[in-house]
Amino acid sequence: YGGMGLDFSYNIAVAEELGNIRCGGIPMAIGVQAGMATPALTRFGSHELKKQFLVPTIAGDFVACLGISETGAGSDVANIKTTAVKKGDEYVINGGKMWITSGTQADWMCLLANTSEGPPHQNKSLICLPMNLPGIHVARKIDKLGMRSSDTAQIFFEDVRVPCKNLIGEEGKGFTYQMLQFQEERLWGVAIALTPLETIIQETIDYTRQREVFGQPVLHNQTVHFHLAELATELELLRSLLHRAVALYVEGNDVTKFASMAKLKAGRLTREVTDSCLQFWGGMGFTNEVLVSRFYR
Ligand SMILES: Cc1cc2nc3c(=O)[nH]c(=O)nc-3n(C[C@H](O)[C@H](O)[C@H](O)COP(=O)(O)OP(=O)(O)OC[C@H]3O[C@@H](n4cnc5c(N)ncnc54)[C@H](O)[C@@H]3O)c2cc1C
Repeated sequence: YGGMGLDFSYNIAVAEELGNIRCGGIPMAIGVQAGMATPALTRFGSHELKKQFLVPTIAGDFVACLGISETGAGSDVANIKTTAVKKGDEYVINGGKMWITSGTQADWMCLLANTSEGPPHQNKSLICLPMNLPGIHVARKIDKLGMRSSDTAQIFFEDVRVPCKNLIGEEGKGFTYQMLQFQEERLWGVAIALTPLETIIQETIDYTRQREVFGQPVLHNQTVHFHLAELATELELLRSLLHRAVALYVEGNDVTKFASMAKLKAGRLTREVTDSCLQFWGGMGFTNEVLVSRFYR
């Protein structure tokens, strides 16, 4: 389908490298395209569906987005309300999605919708939804605190008709497919945090080494040394957990536990590193001239 036939560890290597561009939004948007909206299609989609959606997405001709969250369902994915009701050989979709990365410009959405009224974990399906169909309304681009170069949209569906053949895999398996798809999303989310955090720690070391306060470099106070050493250690531990989880995943194992642990730690560490390091920059940390304040936002 136009891919290079490499395993998932290469995705992670790319994500770590993208951390060098000193911006969160672009790696996030590329991640949605490469590792969040497409894994289920790759694994469970029909040959026809892959030709139609995966080939142009890999080629970079299509922008993909992932439509899971809604105004009333974020953490609680099972609680989504969007429906896709089968009428003849089409699904008729009604509802709306919230927080959709690349949603203002996407060519297609990997949509999670309720396709029956059964139990919440067995009534959902993933559908490839072309975003140019009548009844799709991109309501607004959300004004965000950070990642401003990545657009995030609220989208409504009003009697949107899509062919049943756009179903990914089996009907009713959407929740399970999405839980699997989340593994790659979590691991990518960890990987794109590593390099910026490493850079922030290194730039803080460089700055505090040359910034003199009370007659000596800030870095020469042992408490600063201890703190930065601790953060650097935590970061390397996170990297090790990520690489262990990725190795297990590539071998075909379920890594729900390790991927979730790594994502939890990545979120915590991102806040801890940026908050702690920002203080060592003094007033400079409060400016928009330094990387640490951007990632603090
Ligand atoms: C920049 C950005 C991009 C995004 N991109 C996408 C996208 O492309 N596609 C998509 O589908 N979604 C996307 N999302 C949505 C994201 O997945 C949700 O924001 C996330 O799942 C959390 O849902 P929520 O915002 O509704 O928070 P809520 O579910 O309302 O949670 C609010 C708070 O309650 C806490 N909480 C939840 N459950 C419990 C509990 N049991 N006990 C204690 N506390 C709890 C949460 O941790 C959180 O702190 C994006 C969000 C952002 C900010």
